Amino acid sequence: MSSFQLLIQQLEYSPDAITSNSLSSLFRFITIGTTLKNDIILAEPSSAPINDPPSVLPPAIARFLGAGCAISPAQVSDAWTLLKDIIWTVLHRYLPLLLLIPNEPVPEAEHLLYPPSSYCLQPNCSCRAKGMMLNKAKQHYVILFTLASGPCTAKSVYLYCESCKIDYHYNYSVSEGERTYYENQPANIQVAEHVYMAKEVIELFKTAMDLAWTSATNCARLYNICLSHGKQAPASYGVKFEVYVDHVWDGYVISSLLEDCKNRKSSLTIPHTGEQRDRFTAAMIAKKSSHTALWL
Ligand SMILES: [Zn+2]
Repeated sequence: MSSFQLLIQQLEYSPDAITSNSLSSLFRFITIGTTLKNDIILAEPSSAPINDPPSVLPPAIARFLGAGCAISPAQVSDAWTLLKDIIWTVLHRYLPLLLLIPNEPVPEAEHLLYPPSSYCLQPNCSCRAKGMMLNKAKQHYVILFTLASGPCTAKSVYLYCESCKIDYHYNYSVSEGERTYYENQPANIQVAEHVYMAKEVIELFKTAMDLAWTSATNCARLYNICLSHGKQAPASYGVKFEVYVDHVWDGYVISSLLEDCKNRKSSLTIPHTGEQRDRFTAAMIAKKSSHTALWL
């Protein structure tokens, strides 16, 4: 049964939902609920089945949904009972999510940047063998530079496997001081500790630098003047809505190294410690050596 048929059937069985919640609130509830699915999973016990929605929402999520949809806690509970199966089956798509909640100093982020899996990726992991999700998490607010919407607030979450001692971040995992990038990369690349950049933005910079000899400084200026849409970070936000030269260069280097590794069917592994400017040196030398070898 399609999600739409399921919704119609649910509304048929629970017609009161239409009178107590407007249709627009219901659709907003589905939109926000779908976007927050990973946050809901994270609040569940690690042994909870990932394919089934929880019967009760975590309190923070319920409060956020109530504020976002302008409905009462009781209505949130009713709407979740009605729509949870639909929300759980809807494929997650990127949906901008910026909501100001009364008395909260920082708004909920527009983008949520989670690792690619809720489970440990090690084949021999004892937690994974027991079907346990990763629910040790840390999160921090970051900035995401997009092409269409300019600089956006984002929340980056990383998960920790206690069994394997591995941190899973958005673009890579970290183990024993080494950072290994995932084979399949998401739509954005981390270019500094609290800064992410959409691949389209990096491609724009690379094209401008390679074909038009635009300097990294002017790429940063181009973005800040033409593509930032004049957006300013919220007052309490810890990161500025501004592209710096280092972001341009690091985006260029990381993207090029990832592309090279993909072509050579290898994974990109770099030191996780030390200065950002030194992390990629060995990988760049290895890339250059492999290319030189092809010409010998
Ligand atoms: Zn593990």
